[in-house]
Amino acid sequence: MVATTRKLHHFHGGVHMPGHKEASTRLPVAAAGVPERIVIALQQHIGAPAEPVVKVGDRVLKGQMIGRAGGYVSAPVHASSSGTVTAIEPLPVPHPSGLTIPCVVIETDGEDRWVDLQPLEEYSEADVDLLRARIRDAGIVGLGGAAFPTAVKLTPPADAAIDTLIINGAECEPYITCDDMLMRERPEEVIQGVAIMRRILGVRECVVGLEDNKPEAFRALQAAAAGTGIEVVQVPTIYPTGGEKQLIKVLTGKEVPSRGIPAQIGIVCQNVATAAAVYRSVRHGEPLISRIVTVTGGAVREPRNLDTLIGTPMEHLLGRCDPHLTPEDKLIMGGPMMGIPLRDGSLPTVKATNCLLAATPGDQPNQGQTMPCIRCGECTRVCPVNLLPQQMYWHARAREFDKIQDYNLFDCIECGCCSYVCPSHIPLVQYYRFAKTEIWDQEREKKKADLARRRHEFKQMRIEREKREKAERHKAAAARATAKTSAGKAGAEAATDADKQAAIQAAMERARAKREAAARAEAEPKKTANDADA
Ligand code: SF4
Ligand code: SF4
Repeated sequence: MVATTRKLHHFHGGVHMPGHKEASTRLPVAAAGVPERIVIALQQHIGAPAEPVVKVGDRVLKGQMIGRAGGYVSAPVHASSSGTVTAIEPLPVPHPSGLTIPCVVIETDGEDRWVDLQPLEEYSEADVDLLRARIRDAGIVGLGGAAFPTAVKLTPPADAAIDTLIINGAECEPYITCDDMLMRERPEEVIQGVAIMRRILGVRECVVGLEDNKPEAFRALQAAAAGTGIEVVQVPTIYPTGGEKQLIKVLTGKEVPSRGIPAQIGIVCQNVATAAAVYRSVRHGEPLISRIVTVTGGAVREPRNLDTLIGTPMEHLLGRCDPHLTPEDKLIMGGPMMGIPLRDGSLPTVKATNCLLAATPGDQPNQGQTMPCIRCGECTRVCPVNLLPQQMYWHARAREFDKIQDYNLFDCIECGCCSYVCPSHIPLVQYYRFAKTEIWDQEREKKKADLARRRHEFKQMRIEREKREKAERHKAAAARATAKTSAGKAGAEAATDADKQAAIQAAMERARAKREAAARAEAEPKKTANDADA
């Protein structure tokens, strides 16, 4: 076991808040079961959507690929149970945009029959490219919420000298306990997955960080990590330590540059659940078809963690936890600070679904009548990114999107600390999300307009070129015609002169013959009547 003597650091701001985590950790993780209908979104990751490789009516097996990766930054998706494909169509999924996304719908057959898997027993010495390929083919993405394709993150740029692998087990947001329960119940899977990723990256230093409100998980991980050289470290419980940049700061003292990525300072960061998924894909050949989801909140009587097939409707999970929702309650995917409100329970789980919060009004932070800003500066004091939330709020409100970017809007991790402490109950994060969406829309529109302008310019150039070519063709044709006419006339004139010469010659010939005939007649004796009688 590696002694945890690591010097810890602090990030700016953050808030202490009630964890509400005990309720969902009283019971062990249970299987959520197989729902009658599974909806697999073809895009549940950052990057290009997956492309369907099945059609309606196809029979599929559990673990069978049903959508291949749509590019390098993309991930395939797999059937999470066996059954029949009944539709491939755009459907609503949990996403802040509320837009529909193409999905593969599977009516399950209840057999839950696996496709043939390819286990790899000797994985600890396996070729690094083979390990990466297995992770990519298994459709593994970051399970801490970002859903970035893991194989891509494990292939850092050639000029990035990676020397540290940080594993995020902080799970700082209230109510969420899926990583805690995973570390308690399957610590070997986590540590073996970490070892695989360490081998792929070829790094020296490897640290798992988790908050000190998870003592059982800490002990379990420490035991599993014994003799591996993997360090397991407890960090102070303060929200949002689970933010990638914040955990890196706490464990290493290093700052990730503004709008930069950890690889720029030699670090790769992965989540504990991602590590477990990596292990299962490499060792057992299992694609990412399930994950642990916390189902909790004041509107369920039996909060707990459920091992859930990806694509399971949220209401199926709720049904396992004795719900009693009233019209004032809300369904949220994720936690109360950073979660996505769901329009109803029919939406399917995706790879990034870590929690289903059936939230009563009391579970939702800082609910109150919005009042004018009193410029108290509390929001600035708690911002973990050291931003100026109050100024960003004014610019977002005034739709001054150029100015708000001068305040590094895109460094905002939407942690909600500022809204949480605001005495005027201003929903600050909503303003930042609005501003980001508007800026993205404007950029998209600008790109579209630029593209249209370039197309128009090309079209004009083409029309001009065609006109020019046509004119040149006409000119050339006219020149040819003129040349032909001149040649014809000259030929005709030449022919007329020759005829005349021939006619003159013929007349002269005829005159000469006539003269000769007359001369001969003169020279011959004249016949008489006597010559004739003799
Ligand atoms: S915390 Fe609220 S009231 Fe205070 S400065 Fe920030 S936005 Fe204004
Ligand atoms: S939501 Fe953004 S601005 Fe507010 S505290 Fe978090 S990082 Fe700072």
